[in-house]
Amino acid sequence: MHKWFSPAAARLMRQEIAAANNNEVFFRATLRENVMTDIQVMSRGNQDSVPTVVQAKPGLCLMVIHNHPSGDLTPSGGDITAASRLAREGIGFAIVDNSVSEAYILVEPVQSKPQASVSLKLVNAALGPGGYVAGIMPAYESRPQQLEMAVNLAQALNEGAHALAEAGTGIGKSLAYLVPVLIWARENNRRVVVSTNTINLQEQLLYKDIPLLQRGLPFGFKAVLVKGRANYLCKRKFRELIQRGEDLIEDKDLSNLQAMMTWEKTTRDGTKSDLGFWPGDLWDLVCSEPDACLRVNCQFFRECFFHSARREALDAQVLIANHSLLFADIALRSKGADTGVLPEYHCVVLDEAHNVERAATDWLGGRVTRLSFSRLLARLYAVRANKSKGLLVVLENKLAAAAGLDAELVRGLMETIRQQLVPECIHLGEEINGFFAAAVNFLSQQGEKDLKLRLTGEYAHHPGWQQLVTKAETLFLETARLGKLLEAFRTRLDFLGPQGFEVVLPQAIEIDGIRARLGGLEADLQEVLVGEDGSLVRWAELGTTRQGPRAVFNYAPLAVSNILKENLWEKFPSVIFTSATLTVKKSYDYIRERLGLDRTFKVKELQYESPFNYQQRVLLGIATDLPDPAEHGFQAKIIPAIGESLLASRGRGLVLFTSFYLLNATAAALGEDLTAQGITLLCQGDMPRHRLLEKFQADTNSVLMATASFWEGVDVPGESLSNLILTRLPFNVPDEPVFQARMEEMRSQGKNPFYSFQIPQAVLRFKQGFGRLIRNKQDKGVVLVLDKRVATRGYGRWFLESLPPCPIRSGPAREVLAWQREFLQSTSPQRED
Ligand code: SF4
Repeated sequence: MHKWFSPAAARLMRQEIAAANNNEVFFRATLRENVMTDIQVMSRGNQDSVPTVVQAKPGLCLMVIHNHPSGDLTPSGGDITAASRLAREGIGFAIVDNSVSEAYILVEPVQSKPQASVSLKLVNAALGPGGYVAGIMPAYESRPQQLEMAVNLAQALNEGAHALAEAGTGIGKSLAYLVPVLIWARENNRRVVVSTNTINLQEQLLYKDIPLLQRGLPFGFKAVLVKGRANYLCKRKFRELIQRGEDLIEDKDLSNLQAMMTWEKTTRDGTKSDLGFWPGDLWDLVCSEPDACLRVNCQFFRECFFHSARREALDAQVLIANHSLLFADIALRSKGADTGVLPEYHCVVLDEAHNVERAATDWLGGRVTRLSFSRLLARLYAVRANKSKGLLVVLENKLAAAAGLDAELVRGLMETIRQQLVPECIHLGEEINGFFAAAVNFLSQQGEKDLKLRLTGEYAHHPGWQQLVTKAETLFLETARLGKLLEAFRTRLDFLGPQGFEVVLPQAIEIDGIRARLGGLEADLQEVLVGEDGSLVRWAELGTTRQGPRAVFNYAPLAVSNILKENLWEKFPSVIFTSATLTVKKSYDYIRERLGLDRTFKVKELQYESPFNYQQRVLLGIATDLPDPAEHGFQAKIIPAIGESLLASRGRGLVLFTSFYLLNATAAALGEDLTAQGITLLCQGDMPRHRLLEKFQADTNSVLMATASFWEGVDVPGESLSNLILTRLPFNVPDEPVFQARMEEMRSQGKNPFYSFQIPQAVLRFKQGFGRLIRNKQDKGVVLVLDKRVATRGYGRWFLESLPPCPIRSGPAREVLAWQREFLQSTSPQRED
């Protein structure tokens, strides 16, 4: 018997195997000082469940053991797959006989090395007064809150604790987390992912903070931006397209193809964002895809944009990613994939972390439209401007032109393309169009425009819905039929022999990929229409596009807390969550519950006040004589108040709404008056967001009216933003399906969703909105809240107590506006302490 199995451990396992009638039993055990302890039965006779049952808890040396009832300890294929999955987590794998007298150790567990500590002295030396950063940046002022945050995060890393760090505007939180995680990565020779919600923050990290630390810190490190795979040009597919363009794309796309050929020679990284023009559907045909990649067998492998970027990432200590990519990685790994989207990493920092629940919800769900199906199908076969296009056309032409192949086999393959595959593609295309047209029809009959219809059990009995599901079932059958035909066809391509297969290889692997993705879309649509998984929310949307109404089918997880718990909190010794808005009334309870960070985890809860002097630089006014937003007359009363306020501040205002309806009504009512006073009115939707913000920043006589996404991420320092108007408290729309389902779930748990969910969510958004005003030490301005509930309702305190302390005046709108005018006109702004 192997030395790790003590007599007591062997006895316990023997008993469990006997209790399972000598069938297979899977155990987990902890290896301590080379002896198995904590032996537990995980499952009986079910190998597939093993990798998901075991969690690689930090610091534990885990083994999975199972018996082979035959007594033959040779690992099966399933053993090897399971063992290699577990090995990635550092978990060992062993096979024993039923009497536990023989053991075969397939994979030894990783005996974790003690973690090296982050030197607090080095953190102080980096960010403290006269430190490394100050040494290379004379204008840099060491900030006590920043240093304190950096030291606390270093302690969290050293203690193997997670950290929640709310850092007010102006603290310099990115340096505060970068310094300790960089030291940690260097000391432990490990990689860190820093995930953000916005490109703006990624750019700040890449072009400002990281270069600064690369120059300032006494050790070198490499940081790279990681983008999703589909952002990269696949050179192999691009060559195919250039050679076979006439069989794949329409004449109108040829000029874009020409422009891409020029671009490919000079591009820095081969990514879509470097392209400089919108390639439309052409990009789908040339982007890198995992299931269409030949990897080391590709002739372009060495110069491949995607693989070069991944090699760079493997060499880096810091990966900058966005939340979507991080959750795509998590989703893939949680399904047991061999590799993730990102290279292995051992510490995670999530900045702008107030968005994590939404980002995780988006990425762990699914969405199906007619376009997602038909685009994929069109890559196989489509008729464009009376010409046949697609991979099947390319294949047929290649087969017809290839010399020296088995003529009968080639003829048979060409016949299959013409007589089976092409007709089936056409037929499936008709089924797709028919189903989505019927879906639009059904949804149009259900109610208003822009409908979001939550699909609950009651729809199962709706006659119109039943007809739609029947139509979908035909679509599923046809998709499966095409899948089978493609699979059989693909197998026959192998008979072409090495030389012949070489000719059709690019199309063969793309067919494999398209078949798998068509199957994935079908599975997603099935999940929405007939799925029974109670942990998902399902809904159908009726939207509008330039081409007319469209139906969208969606599903999303009801809760992400367990997914985050399994894939973040339990998996990594330290995860750092940071944002300017994480707490509600100074408490982390809400965010912890939403994210599954329960009291079993070791967590540091940290809060740092902004260094800006809100007491002297801000006046918050609340108009209390306007109607409640739910009352008739709210809109009629607030519009004149907004106008008066904006005229008094001579523009320089950002007005945040919670609906486009009110935004448009306000813009229409005030546009003329503002223009007459030389104030430029900018509205969300007039132009792209970044251009709107540039214009607003540059023109100090402008006003920007915006909604949802502008409540956060707007960074306009200086005079241009001196008057911030929050029209109403940003409660979520109650008919949003995921929101609705989460509210119901809370009610079923005996909680009050208004207090447990709606208010905290609105408070965090309100704090974000408020945070738009003061962006640097010199900023000064007023905030006008036109929703009186913040002063008249009990819960209003939640909002006000969550803000940085500042003077608050409430009263009739006329008085509030007068106070604000006086504050803005004070000619000698008070100096910072
Ligand atoms: S290695 Fe893969 S992604 Fe890169 S060019 Fe080749 S097929 Fe395309």
